[in-house]
Amino acid sequence: MKLRDKGSSVVYNVPQEVGQKLVASGLAVEVAEQVAAKKFVAMTWRVQDGPREGDFQHPPQIYARCSECEPAWQSSRIGIAHQMIKYRHRFACPAAPIPGIAEVVPQHIVEEYLKKWTAYISRSRRKTVVLPTLAKDTSVAGSGNHVQSFSVKLVPAKG
Ligand SMILES: [Zn+2]
Repeated sequence: MKLRDKGSSVVYNVPQEVGQKLVASGLAVEVAEQVAAKKFVAMTWRVQDGPREGDFQHPPQIYARCSECEPAWQSSRIGIAHQMIKYRHRFACPAAPIPGIAEVVPQHIVEEYLKKWTAYISRSRRKTVVLPTLAKDTSVAGSGNHVQSFSVKLVPAKG
């Protein structure tokens, strides 16, 4: 803890136990720590393989999560999950840029996703002659139902 002696302006650090004794004895007073009031919010983006069902490998996903909000993930059968994902923070999340406006997918995540997608689709093409059509994308935003063995523990932020 931070202390200064009575009658002095010099601030010094001492272990908690020592500091408490010095304060209790009246020799020193505690100096309040300057703690940043702003809550730390972490935004996580990553690219992950889709779940596997028997022989079928689902397409890769973009996963997003704010430490204060619910996670979201998005896959696409035509490789455009980076255009489809809409990550919105919960109301009053300190990280929300503008309430209701979705986060922009970081460029390195887009690149990583496209790389993974290219690898995925070239693997798939070796197995099947049916190429994915660009006409329609039937993928839906992740509700969690199609994702196996996926678990996220939401920990309330401190502060
Ligand atoms: Zn958030």
